[in-house]
Amino acid sequence: MSDGSPPARAQAGGPRTAGRSAVVVGGGLAGITAALALADAGVRVTLLEGRPRLGGLAFSFRRGELTVDNGQHVYLRCCTAYRWFLDRIEGAALAPLQDRLDVPVVDVARPAGRRLGRLRRDPLPVPLHLGRSLATYPHLSLAERASVGRAALALKKLDLTDPALDTQDFGSWLAAHGQSPRAVEALWDLVGVATLNAVAGDASLGLAAMVFKTGLLSDPGAADIGWAHVPLGELHDRLARKALDSAGVRTEVRTRVTSVSYNENGAWSVQVPGETLSADAVVLAVPQRETHELLPPGALDAPGRLLEIDTAPILNIHVVYDRRVLARPFFSALGTPVQWVFDRTHASGLRAGQYLALSQSAARDEIDTPVADLRERYLPELERLIPATRAAEVQDFFVTRERTATFAPTPGVGRLRPGARTKARGLYLAGAWTATGWPATMEGAVRSGVSAADAALSALGRPRPRHLFEFEEAA
Ligand SMILES: Cc1cc2nc3c(=O)[nH]c(=O)nc-3n(C[C@H](O)[C@H](O)[C@H](O)COP(=O)(O)OP(=O)(O)OC[C@H]3O[C@@H](n4cnc5c(N)ncnc54)[C@H](O)[C@@H]3O)c2cc1C
Repeated sequence: MSDGSPPARAQAGGPRTAGRSAVVVGGGLAGITAALALADAGVRVTLLEGRPRLGGLAFSFRRGELTVDNGQHVYLRCCTAYRWFLDRIEGAALAPLQDRLDVPVVDVARPAGRRLGRLRRDPLPVPLHLGRSLATYPHLSLAERASVGRAALALKKLDLTDPALDTQDFGSWLAAHGQSPRAVEALWDLVGVATLNAVAGDASLGLAAMVFKTGLLSDPGAADIGWAHVPLGELHDRLARKALDSAGVRTEVRTRVTSVSYNENGAWSVQVPGETLSADAVVLAVPQRETHELLPPGALDAPGRLLEIDTAPILNIHVVYDRRVLARPFFSALGTPVQWVFDRTHASGLRAGQYLALSQSAARDEIDTPVADLRERYLPELERLIPATRAAEVQDFFVTRERTATFAPTPGVGRLRPGARTKARGLYLAGAWTATGWPATMEGAVRSGVSAADAALSALGRPRPRHLFEFEEAA
């Protein structure tokens, strides 16, 4: 246990008659959210996390004077649940949104050299808000721009509740709707790879349509981008921990749960090394494999399906230069293996020079490539994209590899994702990989935590506090 003391049975479970105690397993965004939501509704909650910190897949670590994020994370204005979470932990001001969507897109594939385009929105109703940006987007021909507009309108008409969408791949749908390989690369995959962690040909049409409809075709401001201006750990660990403490949640890190079982006396037993905690409800907010290991028999009809939910990697490449080389906070790239580049200087605490992080999604081909090879491949690419790097000295170059960054959003994944409720009374599931309707995102994780808490509250007979779920009305 983090403070050396074992988790006492009474603290975790409380008196058996109260019927209002819960253990949440997993301190990622899903687990933190479930714990906060349950505690805010008056449930006595213990949150158990195996690692030494909260935040799960979205965390920070120290490297010399730098505080490094394991991977660049962004969210969109349409991520109403994650925004609710930021408010709840009093972190919204530290992860602000752009006033208005503006993504610089640099293309270095053209013989004429670098060319800058922008994906921006105007203060106009949907879909006109993107009309001018698309009409002037220099990385597509006139015919391609017109066909993108037609495909967007066809996408808008798709019914997201139709399960057949999940059986098709997005790439085939785009091709059938007249999208050239260039249009896929310069527009659809530019957004889709970063949000889905898969190229169009590997992505479920259902998930892709959900992302594009919600982000680009719902509300004019839906795709405005937000990101943490501080290390992720400041939000998802320090501020989350503070919010949990003040909500009365008992949080234990370095506490790995080894089994979960139902007692004859009607309570759940949660086993951690050397101790057993008792609770009326348990939320498993761990990844799908760990969920499969911990699930008691009979809790799901087909538990083996959890193991069929594949994972997809994300690679981040970190480069520290001895001087300032980039004026923009971020940009996206075409005609190069580089996908997205973010300026991390201020957030990392670097005092001199500039620290850039390259976020490389759907990185199956490079996730195991040695650092020296990545250095040889990516530094020249950065010189093509950012001419000022040619004269700069590289002071540090390192990579972070997240092999199981997200679930793979492949066609058919929808039928594998379980909801929050299980067949075992008092046992609930959460995690970005559960059936949220969203791809594996911070938004999906928070939504899943709220769904699990909501299901547990109704079973515990606790009223559902309205303010906890306000983001649903805002959606
Ligand atoms: C590099 C990278 C970049 C990303 N970029 C974005 C982005 O830009 N935007 C976005 O929205 N999303 C992004 N994501 C996805 C996002 O981080 C995840 O979807 C989200 O954080 C998942 O949260 P979770 O709570 O569902 O799961 P997790 O974060 O996996 O949390 C599960 C927790 O359970 C703990 N655990 C597991 N087993 C046990 C056990 N037996 N006992 C106790 N604890 C246990 C784990 O240690 C972990 O802390 C990115 C992810 C990565 C890795």
